[in-house]
Amino acid sequence: MTTLADPITKKMGFLLDMDGVIYIGKESIPGGQEFIDYLVENAIPFLFLTNNSRPTTQDIAHRLKKIGYNVTKNHIYTSAMATAQFLASQRPGGSAFVIGEGGLIQALYDHGHAIDDTSPDYVVVGEGRTLTLEIVEKAIDMIIGGSKLIATNLDPAPRIPGWTKPGTGAVIAMLEAATGVKAFSVGKPSPIMMRYARKELGLQTSETIMIGDTMETDILGGVSMGYKTILTLTGSTKAEELSHYPYRPYLVINSIADMIDILKAQ
Ligand SMILES: [Mg+2]
Repeated sequence: MTTLADPITKKMGFLLDMDGVIYIGKESIPGGQEFIDYLVENAIPFLFLTNNSRPTTQDIAHRLKKIGYNVTKNHIYTSAMATAQFLASQRPGGSAFVIGEGGLIQALYDHGHAIDDTSPDYVVVGEGRTLTLEIVEKAIDMIIGGSKLIATNLDPAPRIPGWTKPGTGAVIAMLEAATGVKAFSVGKPSPIMMRYARKELGLQTSETIMIGDTMETDILGGVSMGYKTILTLTGSTKAEELSHYPYRPYLVINSIADMIDILKAQ
């Protein structure tokens, strides 16, 4: 039998990736709503974890509700929130120049940062459609002048025809090449975001279970922290690719729909 709960406390909670786990594009994955309802009904704590720093938690909760998920903004934790929280712990009341959009800007304000477009403490990069050559030039000048380069995440684009967003990883690569400065990234798989999310749920390491579809972020992040990890095959990873990785998930499921039976067996 698969043991998910901590054997001493019997307590457990979930960190859940979203895209490829509970929905694909605008379609919810069958069984996802039932799984979330089961968690709510049984008071099992959970938090959706996303590297996308563009939307606010309100935006994400709204989008999830539209496809049938009964969640609130308190169930969402983004790389923008982790980044803002981390920078506030490093330099309370610091300043940032932002290459990104609403979710990132709001998170920085919420944690007491000011926006500065001349000589900020940090140049913070996330998802968005605001990038221009003028902004790139400004950022390069700031970084060479001493502003620290912070990435909300380093995710590449999925590199499939029709997917035109370059990904935050690509923007960071450009700034790194131009300045010779290496970015510091806070999003998954960084232990910073993985740990903040666990603490948000009030769980111990042995009680925390990460479910995701991407080996390089969700599973690596969970494995690095000592959490139990569950890879679902409805997203970016195929079963035959698992042997390419030096680390492996605790459990592989075909879809999130498998989780209810697994939970009932605990
Ligand atoms: Mg995913």
